[in-house]
Amino acid sequence: AHLDRIAAVDGAVHAFLHVDAEGALAAAARSDERRAEGATASPLDGVPIAVKDVLATEGLPTTCGSRILEGWIPPYDATVVTRLRAAGLPILGKTNMDEFAMGSSTEHSAYGPTHNPWDLDRIPGGSGGGSAAAVAAFEAPLALGTDTGGSIRQPGAVTGTVGVKPTYGGVSRYGLVAMANSLDQVGPVTRTVMDAALLHELIGGHDPRDSTSVDQPLPDLVGAARRGAEGDMSGVRVGVIRELTGEGYQDGVLARFEEAADVLVAAGAELVEVSCPSFVHALATYYLIMPCEASSNLAKFDAMRYGLRVLPEGVDSPSAEDVMRATRDAGFGDEVKRRIILGTYALSSGYYDAYYGKAQKVRTLIQRDFAAAFEQVDVLISPTSPTTAFKLGEKLDDPLAMYLNDLATIPANLAGVPGISVPSGLADGLPAGIQVLAPALADDRLYRVGAALE
Ligand code: GLN
Repeated sequence: AHLDRIAAVDGAVHAFLHVDAEGALAAAARSDERRAEGATASPLDGVPIAVKDVLATEGLPTTCGSRILEGWIPPYDATVVTRLRAAGLPILGKTNMDEFAMGSSTEHSAYGPTHNPWDLDRIPGGSGGGSAAAVAAFEAPLALGTDTGGSIRQPGAVTGTVGVKPTYGGVSRYGLVAMANSLDQVGPVTRTVMDAALLHELIGGHDPRDSTSVDQPLPDLVGAARRGAEGDMSGVRVGVIRELTGEGYQDGVLARFEEAADVLVAAGAELVEVSCPSFVHALATYYLIMPCEASSNLAKFDAMRYGLRVLPEGVDSPSAEDVMRATRDAGFGDEVKRRIILGTYALSSGYYDAYYGKAQKVRTLIQRDFAAAFEQVDVLISPTSPTTAFKLGEKLDDPLAMYLNDLATIPANLAGVPGISVPSGLADGLPAGIQVLAPALADDRLYRVGAALE
């Protein structure tokens, strides 16, 4: 049914870069056999899933939305993909994304944009717009995304889906093509909070192949979602982040946010305003640390090891460097080049301390703001994204306007804390989202509060 749905609507939505009908049907048939024998592999056995094209899938193209990886077929699976397969989830295909996960609208994909199913003239958020649109358009019941600065939560907000960025280290990054490895996390994109909890439990937990993976069991996420759905929030202290609920937000988005906060109060939660003064510097901090890490991570695309290789024109016996230059020039898009240049500059001798070093210090201040806030409250809330989905093309030529979409989502990545975006209703006819943040390793609180907001 999902393959039929993809065939019917994906021409207009363009959520997928690659559909693996054959593989998905074969996996579904194996799942049917297990079911007939009464031996399902997991609670999600047989439930199809779409996977963001930044996760390595053995035998299936993995492009990261970039020309430079055109034609590359990974020889191995990311750990999260291994876990999906072992649990019996048929993989429908790979979803569209901003090139190397750099963007907030999926317009930076080298393979053309994804359209928001709510209004095809609008963006589905980014970088994981393909995963969010696939779930919102009923092309897939579940998807995986990755969130470095908001790429699961912001697309969730603008497509009316649920998106979770787990605690840093809570889900393996092995086989995730790194953009900024100290910020990246894999997480669920779903239509309900309970679906996200089930998927999170399946992909999460320790992986010896990822040295940043946390070696301790996940909290009971499904139990927390169940408890939250019962609607009793008494004793839960909820902090509204003052710095993330004022200026720069669309009126309708703020109105839906306030109504959602009222729902928690009506369920017995205690609401307090909390100040996190360093959050106003989060965007500037992120847009230094992320390009620094990205410039280093993308150095491996050297025309020798993966995908594309372009020979320079008019050069008789090109050197390795000539080939590298021609390949990177043709293979990377403008946004990727912009960040490589910024990151290389900020890391260069003489500037390192002034930019990268200083950004790391501010990152510590942001972490301290979270620590102080979580001494007062159990969870923090804010709108997920300052606006609803904007029109395709509207911010494409204005990188700064594009970066501002991540205002509310970035602090969590800088501090490694988990966050969920849950739909908060329609603002001016388009979906808006509320974000819930919790202390590191307390991902269960996201599900308890998130389910109460549904
Ligand atoms: N939009 C942010 C960026 O462009 C976040 C991207 C992400 O989370 N992958 O960097």
